[in-house]
Amino acid sequence: MALLPVFAACSSSRALRPAAAPAPDASMPSSASRRPIGPTPAHVGPLDARVADDDLDALWERQLMVPVEGIPRGALKDNFTAKRTAGIHGALDILAPRTTAVVAADDLVIGRLFSGPVGGIVIYASDPEQRFVYYYAHLERYRKGLAVGDRVAKGSVIGYVGTTGNAPPDTPHLHFQVMKRAVGRAWWDGPAINPFSFFALDALRP
Ligand SMILES: [Zn+2]
Repeated sequence: MALLPVFAACSSSRALRPAAAPAPDASMPSSASRRPIGPTPAHVGPLDARVADDDLDALWERQLMVPVEGIPRGALKDNFTAKRTAGIHGALDILAPRTTAVVAADDLVIGRLFSGPVGGIVIYASDPEQRFVYYYAHLERYRKGLAVGDRVAKGSVIGYVGTTGNAPPDTPHLHFQVMKRAVGRAWWDGPAINPFSFFALDALRP
C-alpha cells in the first residue's frame, strides 16, 4: 500500500487505514473477548520487546475512555503508524474544535506537566497501578488548578484541545499516546502501545 504524504507536524486525518469498526464492547463477558479485537491489531507498529501480552491484557482491563469529550469510538481514525520525521507517529490524533474538553482516559495520577516546542502544553499521567503512561499533547490549556500528584477520575476534564507545539494552527486536535511506563528516571519515555483497539467507553457530551 502506498503511503499517503504526511506532514512532519502532528497533523491529523492522515491515517494510513480507513476508519475502522467500533472498538470492542466493554460488556462482552468471555475471557477471549478481553483480547483486543478489530481490524487493526492492537500492537500494529513496532511493538517493543518490553511490551508483553500481559501488558496488553492489563491495558484492555483498564477500559479506556476516548479522551476528547463528545467523540465516540467509531469516529476515531488510526494514524499510529503514520510516518513522521523521526519514525512513526506512535499515537492517535483526535480532531475536535479548539477548547473542546480533554478528559481522563483512565483513572489518572498526574505525573508531569510540561510545555515545549513539539508537544506544546502536555500532560503525562499514569494509571493508579503505574503500569502505563498516558501522554496528552497540543493542549490549549490545562484545567484550572491541575497539578502534579492530582488523582483524577476517568472521564473528568483535565484540559482543552488546542494547537500548541508543532500542531498545524488550523487543525486543533489531541495527540494521545499510551506507553508502558518505563523503569527509572525517564518513566514517561517507555515503549508506545497503539490504543486504537483498546477504547471501551465513548466520551460523553457534557
Ligand atoms: Zn499526533
